Amino acid sequence: MKQLEFDSNNLTGQLWDIVIVGGGMVGAATALGLSKNGFKVLILEKGPVNLDWDHSSEYRMRVSALTRASEKILKNLGVWTGIENRRCHAFTAMHVWDEVTPGEVHFSAKDIQEPNLGHTVENAVIQAAIWEQLEQQDNVSVLYTAEISDVETSEQQAHLRLVGDVCVKTQLLIAADGAFSKVRELANIGLKTHDYQQCAIVGCVKTESSHQDTCWQRYTGDGPFAFLAMDENVSSIAWYLPNEKMDWALSLDDETFAEEISRASDYRLGQVVEVAQRDGFPLVRRHAEHYVKPHLALVGDAAHTIHPQAGQGVNLGLLDAAALIEKVVEARDAGKDFGSYSVLRKYERWRRGDNEIVQRSMEAFDWLFKQDASLKVAFRKFMLPVANRMSFVKNWLMDQALNGRESLPELAKRVLSK
Ligand SMILES: Cc1cc2nc3c(=O)[nH]c(=O)nc-3n(C[C@H](O)[C@H](O)[C@H](O)COP(=O)(O)OP(=O)(O)OC[C@H]3O[C@@H](n4cnc5c(N)ncnc54)[C@H](O)[C@@H]3O)c2cc1C
Repeated sequence: MKQLEFDSNNLTGQLWDIVIVGGGMVGAATALGLSKNGFKVLILEKGPVNLDWDHSSEYRMRVSALTRASEKILKNLGVWTGIENRRCHAFTAMHVWDEVTPGEVHFSAKDIQEPNLGHTVENAVIQAAIWEQLEQQDNVSVLYTAEISDVETSEQQAHLRLVGDVCVKTQLLIAADGAFSKVRELANIGLKTHDYQQCAIVGCVKTESSHQDTCWQRYTGDGPFAFLAMDENVSSIAWYLPNEKMDWALSLDDETFAEEISRASDYRLGQVVEVAQRDGFPLVRRHAEHYVKPHLALVGDAAHTIHPQAGQGVNLGLLDAAALIEKVVEARDAGKDFGSYSVLRKYERWRRGDNEIVQRSMEAFDWLFKQDASLKVAFRKFMLPVANRMSFVKNWLMDQALNGRESLPELAKRVLSK
């Protein structure tokens, strides 16, 4: 990988196969997949990416639960060993219960003959492991801190104008610049949004009792509360609260925060005995009206954000990356213009509907567990114990969550031999 200086002679005049704005987990994975397939890739990233890793370092605040489909994509990209060498944790069960009804649902990997139901990994670990591989690629360049001022697409190529009057030309511009994507905005792609009026407080905590390699999720009047199993007695928390409680939760001293968390989890893992840094995120569903224009495609949070209660955001983003890589490589190998609208539309048709289904199912879940109507409470009272006994429904749900739907990209289906 070459690090470029901001020099107009270096950048103007050449035509890049691929330019990716945003080197987060999804943008970096897309860059790696395309560069491994021989494309000349330029990544524009706002901030330097920190690759330093020290095993003794504190657990980071942002953690993702990765599905088997994501694990396969990352294995196929040669990244998984870098994740395992740093830090990740396989969880083997998921336990869901509700504050106001007695039913509980237990999902176990054993029931579907799988070794686990996924891995919890710090986002910084995923990103560092991908960038470590990118550094080995001769056909990848990176330019830090460039500010975008304009995006133009035509039938032939895309032009990205940077502050400082530099124009970067590419066959395919990929926006992976997150939920507040500047590329999406400059390309005039509309966005449908829904404010959940809820925030997530995240961080890592130590508990009195072991998490037993299980992720625990309790539905409360304020919203769900989750423990994601990390290390011995260490869990990452996701505490969902109405937006107006975010400042209150973040201003609590450690002792009070630990007590509030213990209470929200109904002391399921005993008392929370140690808390680390925490942060809060207001939650908004976003869906781009289009994922593509001629020579432009959106991936990951630039295309969609979702309620994180089922931990699907980066998993969907990695599926976008794998699907886009597949369609672009297929077109190039068939001698077609890989950035053309007809090629990119195949990617959009594949991924947009799938992402919409996952967004909608989260909405249905959220609606059902909002404890504001006696009819819904009565339904849950009946449904949770029944659901726990219906092993075929539970097994189907586990399989969908772990392995994804049928129409998976090749990179997510199986670990391909080299
Ligand atoms: C509380 C919470 C919990 C979550 N838990 C899970 C989970 O368990 N499982 C899961 O799958 N997902 C989870 N998610 C969602 C997941 O974090 C996101 O889907 C994921 O981070 C999206 O990755 P991305 O690479 O698309 O975007 P980002 O991570 O936002 O990366 C965007 C990158 O673009 C760069 N960038 C931005 N603007 C510019 C610009 N103008 N120029 C250049 N570079 C730019 C940024 O610096 C960054 O590197 C959670 C989200 C939240 C809020």
